[in-house]
Amino acid sequence: MQQLHFEHILLDTGWAEGMTLEIDPSGYILSIERTMNKETGETITGATIPGMPNLHSHAFQRAMAGLAEKRASPTDSFWSWRKVMYGFLDMLEPEDITAITAQLYKELLRGGYTGVAEFHYLHHSRSGQPYGDKSLMSQAVIEGAKEAGMPITLLPVFYAHAGFGGLPPEPGQQRFINKPDRYQELFCALQCIEKQNPGLTLGIAPHSLRAATKDEIDELLKLSPESPFHIHIAEQQKEIEDCIASYGKRPVEWLYENFNVDDRWCLVHATHITDAEITQIAKSRAVVGLCPLTEANLGDGIFPAKRFISEEGSFGVGSDSNICLNAARELESLEYGQRLLHQERNVLTSKTLPNVGRFLYEKSMSGGARALGQPISGLQVGARADFIVLNLQHPDFYGRARENFLDILLFSAAADFKTDVYIAGEKIVKQGQHKREEEITRTYKARMSKLLASL
Ligand SMILES: [Zn+2]
Repeated sequence: MQQLHFEHILLDTGWAEGMTLEIDPSGYILSIERTMNKETGETITGATIPGMPNLHSHAFQRAMAGLAEKRASPTDSFWSWRKVMYGFLDMLEPEDITAITAQLYKELLRGGYTGVAEFHYLHHSRSGQPYGDKSLMSQAVIEGAKEAGMPITLLPVFYAHAGFGGLPPEPGQQRFINKPDRYQELFCALQCIEKQNPGLTLGIAPHSLRAATKDEIDELLKLSPESPFHIHIAEQQKEIEDCIASYGKRPVEWLYENFNVDDRWCLVHATHITDAEITQIAKSRAVVGLCPLTEANLGDGIFPAKRFISEEGSFGVGSDSNICLNAARELESLEYGQRLLHQERNVLTSKTLPNVGRFLYEKSMSGGARALGQPISGLQVGARADFIVLNLQHPDFYGRARENFLDILLFSAAADFKTDVYIAGEKIVKQGQHKREEEITRTYKARMSKLLASL
């Protein structure tokens, strides 16, 4: 049993000071009491806030950050970026995946994320044939997560087609492709691995309505009825047009007509949606997975967050292509997109939480926790003890009231402050340094030098 005493802490009931948390040997919070006796246990000064779940990541894309920013044609778009991305992933071996994942997750922990949903679609060998062990690439991701100490929700992705209506896959997609029976084998193998790994949660992810048909999604829904269920949807205008051309409906409209979308679903992006679709998503309690900096990088568009929030929709944030590894920066960007769009300030708030920082942080945390299927929705009894300690010695915090701490985190340079990060009660980042910083970075550098030399 571990006892931690906190100077300032943001509990699920709000800010409190002088509190003691008892944490069980597996890292879950057993009790929260006012501090009576500091003689045993560790005292944590500064301001402690819960960690942020990252609900959408493609780990390998971290290693190509900055490699697709040169204008190559007059019509550079998401689709030309995807071509570069396919070329890059074509070279990756399982050892590369482990090294990149460990490096990325180490950086995500330093950036305030304390759990990740990994949307993993790179399943097969470079020739496009499955490995003898079909879950080899998934295991490479899990190994990377273990090395960094990041709790992971692995979403093995079902990908079978190149476009709406069950089009055959393109040559660049061979490493992703599984028919339903082979996917089921992969999922069963991963269920066995999940049982042996306390830091691992398993979910299911049809890649998109382009890549999976109605019958295939129906099959996936039956595989594990309680597991998180994620899908990319309505990210690009072309996707909307293609969906209408094939199915006579918009993607979200078609999704809700064909499936019982509920709170286990995470709709990633949902950028281009009508008012009726906003209402449908909000009512269903599905979580929208927003990735503001990747959506900006790819020129996707801006999610109608103001209206969605006015209808009490659920959302969380993801680092997606991993160009930015800082949770506060994603939230800042989410708010700024709305300010620019509506020419207003302080757009994303509620009556009970009028401060943008606190509102966005708490809502993204609870939506993200649900999307990950992990007990990490705020610091409360039963939750895993994942938290971040803000250093109040930084000048930006001098003389400020606690009510402003999260606004400062999002809207000053505070997101870049060196902080401590705890996972399951264990300090894994100390003053901005990960406990395996050098070792993980060294391996990553060695793999990348080899990989990029062959480009
Ligand atoms: Zn994605």
